[in-house]
Amino acid sequence: MPERPYVIDQMISAKSIAARIEELCDEISREYEGTDKLVVVGLLRGSFVFIADLVRELDLPVEVDFLEASSYGNSMESSREVRILKDLRGEIEGRDVLVVEDIVDTGHTLTHVMHLLESRNPRKLKTIALLDKPSRREADIAADWIGFSIPDEFVVGYGIDFAQRNRNLPFIGKVRFTE
Ligand code: 5GP
Ligand code: MG
Ligand code: MG
Repeated sequence: MPERPYVIDQMISAKSIAARIEELCDEISREYEGTDKLVVVGLLRGSFVFIADLVRELDLPVEVDFLEASSYGNSMESSREVRILKDLRGEIEGRDVLVVEDIVDTGHTLTHVMHLLESRNPRKLKTIALLDKPSRREADIAADWIGFSIPDEFVVGYGIDFAQRNRNLPFIGKVRFTE
């Protein structure tokens, strides 16, 4: 992608994210209460910061695994074609599983991943997404828990990139081109 100058306007502060994660983790900890171990599946790479904060707020025994599905590449357009680039290391049959996604946009990625994981017969399979863009949805899917519902803006930060940059911002911001 050619370099085009842009700035990032803060949309959701680090403090708001932390507060929301506390609320969500109370709910999730209640939902999976009594589990022998919750397998928390992070969808790479955008969920890596979110999952790190989530697992430290969950009052449950957890195992962490990762799965990588192709989505945007380096462009700002979504792709309907979803491929698994990296599969889970562990088995999930009969296990309690929570899939952690950064953003549900068209919903194709999560739909594909959920079909795959359901076919492995987990005991309980639920999903959480930090961000949801309901106005962009094409597939009939919704995460069980959502951090924030946002308008159709291209966002970065808190693990989420623009052409592999800006993942290390502690907040969520929107990209605004200046030229
Ligand atoms: P979907 O398959 O739901 O259309 O796409 C989901 C994936 O697209 C997200 O997990 C994320 O990787 C990417 N995506 C969607 N919206 C944005 C955005 O605003 N910024 C970035 N960087 N990626 C996005
Ligand atoms: Mg993603
Ligand atoms: Mg990406």
